[in-house]
Amino acid sequence: MSATIIDGKAFAAEVRGKVAEHVAELAKKGIKPGLAVVLVGEDPASQVYVRSKGKQTVEAGMESFEHKLDASTSEADLLALVDKLNNDPTVNGILVQLPLPDHIDEDKVIGAIDPAKDVDGFHISNVGLLATGQKAMVPCTPLGCLMLLRDHFGSLSGKSAVVVGRSNIVGKPMAQLLLRDSCTVTIAHSRTKDIEDVVRGADIVVAAVGRPEMVTGDWLKPGAVVIDVGINRLPPAEEGGKGKLVGDVDFASASEVAGAITPVPGGVGPMTIACLLANTLTATCRANGLPEPE
Ligand code: NDP
Repeated sequence: MSATIIDGKAFAAEVRGKVAEHVAELAKKGIKPGLAVVLVGEDPASQVYVRSKGKQTVEAGMESFEHKLDASTSEADLLALVDKLNNDPTVNGILVQLPLPDHIDEDKVIGAIDPAKDVDGFHISNVGLLATGQKAMVPCTPLGCLMLLRDHFGSLSGKSAVVVGRSNIVGKPMAQLLLRDSCTVTIAHSRTKDIEDVVRGADIVVAAVGRPEMVTGDWLKPGAVVIDVGINRLPPAEEGGKGKLVGDVDFASASEVAGAITPVPGGVGPMTIACLLANTLTATCRANGLPEPE
């Protein structure tokens, strides 16, 4: 193996530590950031995320408000809760865990969140602010990827970057952030022709596809830096067992060619929650007219 392993777990712990220091400073002014997480239904993966978010929020010294609603909750009731949280001064950040049950319109719910409290950065106001280079709430996963890349490279200016995947929550905002940092950005997706050749041109590859181990070493330019956003659980080897967690990149072959690579688990995943805490802190500072942490 030649690639440097980018340790997202350690970097995320650093970010959380800095957030906790700022939160302790705010406490001296009588301010305690509050993050409300809303979970509708009992999706097991979402339950794990929400538990982990709540725990890390409290560890950072913030207030965690968890709202667990039944899967049959109506759209109107969910919108009423969002409205209540929008108007609650103790809540600085609101996160509605996706996916929502089919009978609820996700766009409508995201659109109802006060953009200033939209710590996921999914509200169209924040999407537009990011796209036009203004002060936005930036989606947590792409923000975490950007932090890892900046830490690795220093400046990203002039690098060629390929983002594989064009979802609203990862691919598109990732491309915007890389563009903002002066990369030359290509977005590849399921209709991209000769995708291997497209990826082979990149100094930076961000894979956010949701297909286990799709990007292999022979797709990469030697020395490329690879950020693997994917979280896929393979079928268990034996009945009743727990399948292995893998990314969208084939780590074994990619790490032979890449210059640096994030592992799964322990790469992008921990950065996502760390950035959620950082966004909640930013929202709190903005709400109180205080300077924002860097
Ligand atoms: P989506 O399913 O919303 O989007 C997947 C994207 O990949 C689409 O744009 C799709 O293209 C593209 N795609 C699918 N198949 C191919 C293919 N064969 N070739 C090229 N492109 C393809 O996924 P998300 O963006 O929500 O998530 C992506 C991955 O990241 C998942 O594994 C998810 O679990 C993980 N994830 C991890 C997070 C973390 O904290 N680490 C947070 C969020 C997601 P098209 O648009 O043409 O259909």
